[in-house]
Amino acid sequence: SDKWGQAEDIVKVFGEECKTPIEKLKKVAEAMVVEMNAGLSSEGGSKLKMLISFVDNLPSGDEKGLFYALDLGGTNFRALRIQLGGKEKGVVKVEAEEVSIPPHLMTGSSHELFDFIATCLAKFVSSEPEEFRPLPGRKRELGFTFSFPVRQTSIASGTLIKWSKGFSIEDVVGEDIVGELTKSLEKIGLDMRVAALINDTVGTVAKARFSNQDVIAGVILGTGTNAAYIEHVNAIPKWQGLPPKSGKMVINMEWGNFYCSYLPLTEYDHALDVASLNPGEQIFEKIISGMYLGDIVRRVLLKLAEEAEFFGDTVPPKLRIPFILRTPDMSAMHHDTSSDLKVVEKKLRDILEIDNTSLKMRKIVVELCDIVSVRGARLAAAAIFGILRKLGRDTVKAGEKQKSVIALDGGLFEHYTIFRTCMENTLKELMGKEAAETIGIEHSNDGSGIGAALLAASQSQYV
Ligand code: ADP
Ligand code: MG
Repeated sequence: SDKWGQAEDIVKVFGEECKTPIEKLKKVAEAMVVEMNAGLSSEGGSKLKMLISFVDNLPSGDEKGLFYALDLGGTNFRALRIQLGGKEKGVVKVEAEEVSIPPHLMTGSSHELFDFIATCLAKFVSSEPEEFRPLPGRKRELGFTFSFPVRQTSIASGTLIKWSKGFSIEDVVGEDIVGELTKSLEKIGLDMRVAALINDTVGTVAKARFSNQDVIAGVILGTGTNAAYIEHVNAIPKWQGLPPKSGKMVINMEWGNFYCSYLPLTEYDHALDVASLNPGEQIFEKIISGMYLGDIVRRVLLKLAEEAEFFGDTVPPKLRIPFILRTPDMSAMHHDTSSDLKVVEKKLRDILEIDNTSLKMRKIVVELCDIVSVRGARLAAAAIFGILRKLGRDTVKAGEKQKSVIALDGGLFEHYTIFRTCMENTLKELMGKEAAETIGIEHSNDGSGIGAALLAASQSQYV
């Protein structure tokens, strides 16, 4: 019918607007390099903050002892206890407890959030085996992964620049994160020293580098997206301190806030941005990461329902609820291999309360999932290509067999197979056949936990 034609047109236009031909991706990567240089030159020089992590030495592998880690930066919060055994034994044991953060704490007050974290941590510490109790006069040491943009003032202090990913607690912005946590720890009498404050991307680099010296960058594709990489200090004009012995510094790019005119943005992306807690910010993150992909699909479905009566003559009310369609559900629909798209049918019924969908309709839903995830995956590949170009590792130099390994982590990368495969293939496409052989993509599990403990260990007061 006429309505069906209208629906097809909406999908077609959306697909066109989301296209990411290789030339466009190269321009995005080029813009990324320009912004990286601008961000490294001066504070506030670019939308890419290129934050100095104060990590100038990565774990050597000799780290030993019991360390704690906290991982805060998405929907869940984790406390970890990690036993390190030095060169021979490596990471001996990891124990972890995961708690989902009550939504009201994500937009409440600072002391409520940090008191909650401290209380969870104290509970976790109380399960510590007797033999690991710190000796008298010693404190437990903690690596704190806090995955929001932080202006570091040392390896163990830094102020929050802004929130993202659904968090918004005004009274912490501009405050020292370690100070806030320490206040809450003292309040409940938990004897612990924050030895390192890091971003999850930095933890991912540290964790991966621990076992593979070819690692040059860490990328997170989870609730949000971001990357960190190892830079030469002489390429960081804004660095005011003495040059570290290693000559290197890990830079937290905060690439979620990247923007350039080549990004394929649509009306749905604009609407999502306007309705978000941080309008105008994290535009790159909003078209790539797990927090948002499902909602972009929902927005297109809503348009189809409103303008083309896609689901019949009334608009399914659930379709109007922001974030009701989560990326894991989108991913499940996208991976549906049954001939009649049973998973899609069930998800539409269970989540959106839409019954009686035809196969033809379900195919369109899958097509939307494909358009949205392929755009995100290809842009993520372009951003990685940008890092490689910045470091001059995008081409093979005659006679050199330099390997470059990118460590990846995050639920989107781990579980959304089509996204991951598309991203890896696009990176190969961008590199070209010969150079692609010098690149490794490695899943670095739990850099935000183990990486934080490793960095706490390398900053320990007691070595
Ligand atoms: P965080 O980024 O919050 O630290 P994770 O790395 O575990 O946490 O990523 C969680 C995110 O990964 C979720 O918000 C979701 O968007 C995405 N995700 C989790 N499972 C899946 C899945 N099966 N398919 C697609 N995306 C998923
Ligand atoms: Mg995480």
